[in-house]
Amino acid sequence: MSQQKVFEYGKVKIKLYGGIDEIGGNCIVIEDKNRKIVFDNGIRFSIIRKFYGGRIEPLGPSELRIIGAIPPLEIFQNVSTLYISHFHLDHIGLLSSIPSEVCIKVPSISILERTLASWYKRPGNWLAYVPPDYTNKIEEISLKKEDENNVIAIPVSHSCFPSYSFLYNGDEIKIFYSGDLRFEPLTNICSKLNEIVSSVGIDKVDVAIIEGTNFTTEFTPITTSMFRDYILLLLRKYEFVSISIDPLDLEAFVAILELSSIVDRNLVISSERLLWTIEEIEKIKPEFLDKIYISEELEVPTPLLLKNISLVNDVFKNPRNYVIIIEPIGLLQIIRKLKIWKENLNLVNSIVILMDPEPRESIKEVEEGVLRTWLKTFGIQTIRLRLSGHYLPHQFFDIIETLKPKNLIPIHTEESDLMNKLFKSNLKI
Ligand SMILES: [Zn+2]
Repeated sequence: MSQQKVFEYGKVKIKLYGGIDEIGGNCIVIEDKNRKIVFDNGIRFSIIRKFYGGRIEPLGPSELRIIGAIPPLEIFQNVSTLYISHFHLDHIGLLSSIPSEVCIKVPSISILERTLASWYKRPGNWLAYVPPDYTNKIEEISLKKEDENNVIAIPVSHSCFPSYSFLYNGDEIKIFYSGDLRFEPLTNICSKLNEIVSSVGIDKVDVAIIEGTNFTTEFTPITTSMFRDYILLLLRKYEFVSISIDPLDLEAFVAILELSSIVDRNLVISSERLLWTIEEIEKIKPEFLDKIYISEELEVPTPLLLKNISLVNDVFKNPRNYVIIIEPIGLLQIIRKLKIWKENLNLVNSIVILMDPEPRESIKEVEEGVLRTWLKTFGIQTIRLRLSGHYLPHQFFDIIETLKPKNLIPIHTEESDLMNKLFKSNLKI
């Protein structure tokens, strides 16, 4: 893949190898005097969708490089550090294919091990290249303080935890890179962008590389307060409620936990991929631990401090006492098992709320149509709640106001021209 775009500001060069006029695949190289660093190493799903489908899967990093789905190897020449903003595949990419002399800084080593590294370890699958293979030096991003490359990591709200924006504080230039972000967090485990930015002492930047995912959406995402109101309403109205979330979305998990406790419902974790959240809840919201159960049907050892519960024998008998939290593939597995166990299970006045990510930014693991067909066989209704992991278009000016950039580089968007026009119109005001 050839380099997509170069921006020069004095002696500093910003080279973009992915994420220009497309959603995802971000890869930004910053060259300043003798320093060369990279932000994100994303997989370009716009390319993946063109070359693969059904049983045609990528063979591995070499093939993906040839077709331009991951950044070229040459860009890592003389790079000291690769910074990963968060663990979504369109940002983390295939870490085990990064040259061994590059130090990789990740948001959390322990969360990486408990999530992607354990989910994708199956050999023969191209996703087994996602976690680093430990020939590289792996470090955890240090929070809110400048590191040896003059980079400050700023924790932000997104549908993946933890997520960061980065500030490169060079001698001549300050460059902000958003990663993916929500302006308004879902819960208090993250702060609002303007508050966190001022808490690290940033009042203005020279260049802002900002995502613009939501400038092109077929469906309008809801705001965080609409999300809370709507979930509460559904929890009050329906008997059985199951919510499917992105398994990396700790913020959504915590929000649902808080809302469930308002209506006196306990949370039942029914996907193995969500078990990593327990350790985090223990740190950030220990008071909620006694409201969480693990579904017995998962057949996994129950983490310390938690209780088991049977979906079939307890939850479906008293559905109003519980909310099931699950990711789509897990939901489909349980539903199929139920069909075998209990043909006549009555789940009318039940709802499944889908709020997992859009396929543009990840791999679709379950066809939504297929899921709906299975659910319908039990009389379960399905709704998709479009809560976005990204800021909403009307918040663009709030971000500009927060960062006061002299220059804008839109990324992770199909609407760069529109963003540039909006930015220029704001400058004139
Ligand atoms: Zn993301």
